[in-house]
Amino acid sequence: MYNILCVDDTSANLLILEALFDEYKDKYNIFQADGGYKALEILLSNHIDLILLDVMMPDIDGFETAKIIKQNRETKDIPIIFLTAKKDDETIEKAFTLGVDYLSKPYNEVELLSRVENHIKLRAYHKQLDEQLLFSQAILDAQPNIVFVRDDEKILSVNRSFLYFFHIDSLDEFRSQHQCVSELFMEYENFFSLSVLNEGKRWVGEILHHKDRDYNVLLMDISNFEPKAFRININKIDNTEKFVVTLTDITSITTKSKQFEVKATHDTLTGIYNRNKFNEYMQEYYQRFNRYKEDICFAIFDIDFFKKVNDTYGHQIGDETLITFAKTIDENIRITDVFARWGGEEFTLIMPNTTIENGFQVVDNLRKLIQNTRFKQIGHKTCSVGLTSFKDGDVIESIVARADEALYEAKETGRNKVVVK
Ligand SMILES: [Mg+2]
Repeated sequence: MYNILCVDDTSANLLILEALFDEYKDKYNIFQADGGYKALEILLSNHIDLILLDVMMPDIDGFETAKIIKQNRETKDIPIIFLTAKKDDETIEKAFTLGVDYLSKPYNEVELLSRVENHIKLRAYHKQLDEQLLFSQAILDAQPNIVFVRDDEKILSVNRSFLYFFHIDSLDEFRSQHQCVSELFMEYENFFSLSVLNEGKRWVGEILHHKDRDYNVLLMDISNFEPKAFRININKIDNTEKFVVTLTDITSITTKSKQFEVKATHDTLTGIYNRNKFNEYMQEYYQRFNRYKEDICFAIFDIDFFKKVNDTYGHQIGDETLITFAKTIDENIRITDVFARWGGEEFTLIMPNTTIENGFQVVDNLRKLIQNTRFKQIGHKTCSVGLTSFKDGDVIESIVARADEALYEAKETGRNKVVVK
């Protein structure tokens, strides 16, 4: 049932309308007003679906009445059809500028009924659309993720999490400061930022193009100045050039897995690789050796008379000696070399793509470097090194055993030297 408000100062006109709608009693319910003020009064206390409005009326005319109705938030969307004998261009133009439909008297009844029906249908459709928009926004706002919609040019719509994260009240505020979120992506390690894009590439296109890859970005959280890590997902909206971009906060996952990874692979005292990681690398290089017959050297370092350090100066100085030793070697090896703490005061070095002659040069230089390093409190310290290379028929154990034998020989024959086996 729809409520139609008929407004006319001529009661005969109201009667005609009443008779017209009488046939459709089951569909339309008629309200009547004999002037603008009366119409507004009815509108205040009733739900009205459509207004048929006379233009010439003594109190306030139809134009004024329509203007007031259009200004009120509650009533502005109610469709209005002017019914008037005035046919001049000015009247017609005025009606359409107000967003009001127009039908001149005497009107054709079928036409009037059709227009009424169309307006009511259209309004219902708009209402549905508005509701859909509200629902969509509510769904977006319920997301803890940062979500925004953009086209090729700019951001079109954002959710509440977006506003919260960037500390703004509206999208316009964001737009006044930035072109796009992407310019805020921080450059760091493996995180995606605009600087990794090739000339002329657009970031949305780049990410969409590589569906199989994970793209993570860092954004500064300005509430505490801590960078946060986000996983980016981009979905193209069907049949449009618009994209939904979702940023999922993965900060805690990233930090946790990083901490876990560091713990599992690094020696807690010296910060270099631990024995686990060494074993992993050894396996990898062993396979590489078997496949490509690459020259690979392997060395074990042992700090000479280390036990004395602990006994004389205590464990804290002992630890500091280990740290200094590891740091000195670690900073002076080549980027491809793998240096690890083997256990106690023993360290291992894998040198890929290195002949035994070169390997000797490398480790002997490191030995000299240690000899010339000043260790806190204890002064100078030396080390012995056992060196070998991967050989045909080797297994990992035989490589390690050979280096160990060489180290033993270095110790037995005076220390502070490199022995090759
Ligand atoms: Mg009149």
